[in-house]
Amino acid sequence: MMKNTNSKQILLKGIPAAPGVVVGKAFCLGSEDMQVERRDIAEAQIPKEITRFEEALIKTRNEILDIQKKISREMGVRHAQIFNAHLLVLEDRTLIEGVISRLKKERVCVEYIFLEVLKRYIKTFSHIDDPYLRERLSDIEDVGKRILRNLRGIRRDILSNLKEKLVIVAYDLSPSDTASMHKEKVIGFITDIGGKTSHTAIMAKALEIPAVVGLEEATAKIKTGDTIIIDGATGEVFINPDKVTLNKYRQQSERLVRREQILLKLRDLPAETLDGHRVELAANIELPEELPSVLAHGAKGIGLYRTEYFYMNRMDLPSEQEHFEAYKKVLQQIKPYSVVIRTLDLGGDKFLSQLDIPQEMNPYLGWRAIRFCLARPDIFKVQLRAILRASAYGKLKLMYPMISGVEELRQANKMLDEVKEELRRRRIAFDKDIEVGAMIEIPSAALTCDILAKEADFFSIGTNDLIQYSIAVDRVNEKIAYLYEPTHPAVLRLIKNIIDSGHRENVWVGMCGEMASEPAFALLLLGLELDEFSVSPAAVPSIKQIIRSVSLKQAKEVVEKALSLTTGKEVEDFSRKKLKELVS
Ligand code: PEP
Ligand code: MG
Repeated sequence: MMKNTNSKQILLKGIPAAPGVVVGKAFCLGSEDMQVERRDIAEAQIPKEITRFEEALIKTRNEILDIQKKISREMGVRHAQIFNAHLLVLEDRTLIEGVISRLKKERVCVEYIFLEVLKRYIKTFSHIDDPYLRERLSDIEDVGKRILRNLRGIRRDILSNLKEKLVIVAYDLSPSDTASMHKEKVIGFITDIGGKTSHTAIMAKALEIPAVVGLEEATAKIKTGDTIIIDGATGEVFINPDKVTLNKYRQQSERLVRREQILLKLRDLPAETLDGHRVELAANIELPEELPSVLAHGAKGIGLYRTEYFYMNRMDLPSEQEHFEAYKKVLQQIKPYSVVIRTLDLGGDKFLSQLDIPQEMNPYLGWRAIRFCLARPDIFKVQLRAILRASAYGKLKLMYPMISGVEELRQANKMLDEVKEELRRRRIAFDKDIEVGAMIEIPSAALTCDILAKEADFFSIGTNDLIQYSIAVDRVNEKIAYLYEPTHPAVLRLIKNIIDSGHRENVWVGMCGEMASEPAFALLLLGLELDEFSVSPAAVPSIKQIIRSVSLKQAKEVVEKALSLTTGKEVEDFSRKKLKELVS
């Protein structure tokens, strides 16, 4: 959404993804699109390169069709027809065959060949006298850039080699793009698409980089070099702000730093309510590099270690030894606290390029996470072995993602038992009493927690997915973000059922979804008697402050009332109001 303010400054409103205020110069990803490094390839790689090229063409076609639909809706069919020319470029046999035949002959990576062919094309067109045909030049250039972007898929080279501090502006960023961002150089980022709990947003929080997603037209409105203000808490982005706005946000940024310093004083105090009810306050990590931040913010352990990032940004699969060493290091650094290691949760918006997994119509409902692992014991058991071996070096808990019912839990545990047996035979040490838990992030699991609780040592509620599946709302789609409500009565009831069912069987229940990081919701969760909050490291101090400012009795009263309300909005407004009253 765009608003024109008084002066020439432009205000865009998107979805807040990671808090913080930042002022900086924009760098539009995509402006580098016409540069590619020449990389030789072996003959055996040629078919793979051709497949990559074909996939990039398909992806580009889908993108253009999406744009066409949007324009047709918003501006009429006639305007949308302009894009027919773009689609024709994608079907141009001379262009496609030119690339494939040069690829076979020259054995150079497909991006490089494609760019060479594209440049030649552009040159030929620019010499043509016919003004109509010359106009087609910009179509070719535009589509060419898109194909190139999709061919490269990841832009981590650019992101990890920035020379100055910049605000990144992109249509979209993949989680692996975000993971490769250099925190010193990328001071904020904004994207056209994406939702609050997309993994890109989660990574931004983990890296403590202010971010706003789902702005829809950031890339259309912003040029490299523009001055940008990002308010990651409200989702507001100013383009070329005037002096008054600049001063206001600079002061706000200073205020935030001061507040953070005050909150950090809570670091060594327990997460305990006024009437002595203690909860565990842990942190989520994606990369071991986040450990210093976890400790600095006063988290007492890791409630979710998302190991799939360990598989990202590399060509091969990590070996058992690599897994083992990484886990052991995390365990040793976090001592005396514990670490919950979640097994590979690929799928949804997290892709691993080294696993040739076909594209699916519904990736969030597809062959992913524990489903993939159970079908591929060759990959799963490597990780299980490493986790078990690491368990000899600290307090390690193991957790399976995307459990839909007790059968999957049994199957996973059966594989775990096989690995344990193998280690015993080989006399390799591991923690025989290792706790094994299930993420509860699918409604079928949430509704059968009484059954699961008999066979799991703990539960961790994954609200990012639980909300998406229970309200049928894609967590990364900005268009329907308004439906993504952690406080929807259905979600609250599911959470209550999970916690109560767990407690009836003496199973502790944590939450590692983003809902636990949100102050107003934390108050509700406290009242529901959640045992463990696992939040992004930077959110630890503010969640601790809330827990320490109220009594369990007060929190229970708040949630009792909240459960009687009828809409997500009512619950959210009510809990925000109570938070203001109870926490200064
Ligand atoms: C969740 O779904 O809430 C969760 C913590 O897992 P992820 O965000 O990695 O899917
Ligand atoms: Mg999940």
